[in-house]
Amino acid sequence: MLARDSRTMKTYKIVELHGDGISAELSQSVHRIAEALPFRLDFVPVDLSLENRAKRGLVIYDEAEALMRLHKVALKYPTATKVESPNAILRERCEFSVIHRPVGSIPGIQTNFTRELDIDVVRIGTGGTYEDAGRRIGLDTAVSLRVIERTPARHAARFAFKLAMLRKGGVVSTSKYTIQAQTDGLFEEVVGVVAQDYPGIPYRRELFDSLLASVIMKPERYQVIVCPNEYGDFLSDMACGLIGSVGLGDSANYAFSDDGAITLAMFDPAGGTAPDIAGKDVCNPFAALFALASLLRHIGEWDASKALKQAVLDCVAAGERTADIGGKLKCSQFTELVTGRVQKSLAAV
Ligand code: ATP
Repeated sequence: MLARDSRTMKTYKIVELHGDGISAELSQSVHRIAEALPFRLDFVPVDLSLENRAKRGLVIYDEAEALMRLHKVALKYPTATKVESPNAILRERCEFSVIHRPVGSIPGIQTNFTRELDIDVVRIGTGGTYEDAGRRIGLDTAVSLRVIERTPARHAARFAFKLAMLRKGGVVSTSKYTIQAQTDGLFEEVVGVVAQDYPGIPYRRELFDSLLASVIMKPERYQVIVCPNEYGDFLSDMACGLIGSVGLGDSANYAFSDDGAITLAMFDPAGGTAPDIAGKDVCNPFAALFALASLLRHIGEWDASKALKQAVLDCVAAGERTADIGGKLKCSQFTELVTGRVQKSLAAV
């Protein structure tokens, strides 16, 4: 056991955005892990459950935004989208312009795809085709605007190159720059300029359609992939399909200052609220713990981040699993086993 004296421990304030369904169980799992770490995570709760949103109205987002801007790091659990989408509101209010989705093979999970995959999808979190639902022109024609902006493209590119530097890999930018010559052309131009600041990082660009095939056929050629919004959306889900799950991963949203520094980061598990299993202690906290691990890496707690990710993976590989991935463990039992592994590995550091 690590000696823990919360009075003297380094403390990080983390805004914790509670949601619906299995949110409470995921939070319990996260807190259990946090208790075992050799530093303190001081969670600042915001209740974004459907019930509280109905009661408090949009004021709850004012509170969430203010706290997130104050503390700069947040962990968000799944929220139900009924009237409004909390994710969309937070993204707009906090000006999240980059979404990072790490996707790596999970030993022990059954997949159709048997090769190893370890990619970081970095996408512009705004624009593309997603901000204009389009309009009808007469009965048989519809048009929409596609937006690419220089600043978020630069943020995404910088983030991608910094990430590649950390993981000692290369960057591939991808889009349809031959056809969308102006929009995707601007994106590629921006990435190309940023690439010049990172001469040591291998960089190339690929057309998005051929990249999709190539990721499947030669996954070892890809580490960090940076792209406009919608391509990143498609690619992330395809990659998750390759590793056998769209629910066992995390993503992060980042906001930046004008000079490119990260001003705000929000981490969240990929899955939904799973109302059918809520409150039964059967949900899988895998993605929430991965989100916590990514958060720990972001705040500079590398050892704890690595230990947590590895502990989750080791549990799954050893057959210590929740029911959704073929095991028998309750959420709390799985969490205890992960906690034990984390403590053991941090004690050895
Ligand atoms: P939402 O509207 O929030 O997306 P949903 O139930 O429509 O909720 P998911 O939450 O993605 O969609 O759930 C889809 C299925 O996957 C459900 O049967 C759910 O129980 C299961 N599931 C989702 N997340 C988990 C989890 N963390 N652990 C175990 N099963 C899960």
